[in-house]
Amino acid sequence: MKNSILQTKGILIAGPCSAESEEQLISTALELSKIEEVKVLRAGIWKPRTCPGGFEGVGTKGLAWLAEAKKQTGLLTATEVASPKHVEDALHFGVDVLWIGSRTSVNPFNVQAISDVLKGTDATVLIKNPVNPDIQLWAGAVKRIQQSGIENIGLVHRGFTSYGNKEFRNAPMWQIPLELKRQFPELPMICDPSHITGNSDLVASIAQKSIDLHFDGLIIESHISPRDAWTDKKQQITPLMLQEILSSLNRSLVDLDQLDVEVKIDALRYQINQFDDDLLQLISSRMKIAERIGAIKSANKMEVVQTSRWNKVLEKVVTQSRDTQLSEEFVLALMELLHSESIRIQRK
Ligand code: PEP
Ligand code: MN
Repeated sequence: MKNSILQTKGILIAGPCSAESEEQLISTALELSKIEEVKVLRAGIWKPRTCPGGFEGVGTKGLAWLAEAKKQTGLLTATEVASPKHVEDALHFGVDVLWIGSRTSVNPFNVQAISDVLKGTDATVLIKNPVNPDIQLWAGAVKRIQQSGIENIGLVHRGFTSYGNKEFRNAPMWQIPLELKRQFPELPMICDPSHITGNSDLVASIAQKSIDLHFDGLIIESHISPRDAWTDKKQQITPLMLQEILSSLNRSLVDLDQLDVEVKIDALRYQINQFDDDLLQLISSRMKIAERIGAIKSANKMEVVQTSRWNKVLEKVVTQSRDTQLSEEFVLALMELLHSESIRIQRK
């Protein structure tokens, strides 16, 4: 990496999720430029939206606003690119840092097309993790961009889509970025707590966690008036809030050995949480069936509790459980608990 802004220790990139108007972008940039740590202004010009019909970004005209913001504040600028045309336009307007978003890094065709158009430029490129927790896919995107001859590359951890997970917008699964950091020790790993949490109240704690895990910098969404934001309203913070968070962060580094244990436990706890979610869903589905049986029994004036059927269920489950490490007492107690809830629901 040569003379890259990405080499700045603890680099901080901040700015709105989307550029909405020149006024919104410049006023946010002016406030952010008062914060010493902020080196780069981010703003999405082309927005990948999950469903059609939403605001898809202001498009190329926003690039002129970024250039104006840079002129007025001295901040470098960054925007998301998802196609060769985006790369050409952004470079033409002098955008300093391009980032490949999660919905693009997931697709090798798109990453390759971007890599091809980057050839021969001296662009600085951030590669966000793909939406799904696939470390090879993320590493593959990095290798494709490296093959274009681009030297100034950074990684951005923004968490992973996970079905049923409620705690975060995108589950952090810290073991994945840490493993990628081991594979590419020369590339800075930047944390995006805004897209991990999806919640402005949690941004500080995830930013702190990333510092504890020796991440190299932060990219944080900041909007002059978050409640009026056109995209990602819930996760953006004002420049003032950003300043407060920055001064609250503890930058003394925790011992890495101790940390590894914590990360391992965190990864396992994450899996436990996933299983708990699944268990609740499964039990609830089981009860919905019991409810239907209850309705049939009641319409036909049948007894709710049918001992011979229940004994067969228990026998089957106990036999199956012999192949697991679960004790027979546990399995019977669990089934009793399920049965009594099922009876309660059927009697309703
Ligand atoms: C963004 O940075 O605004 C964005 C769309 O991010 P991601 O690709 O992480 O979803
Ligand atoms: Mn966003």
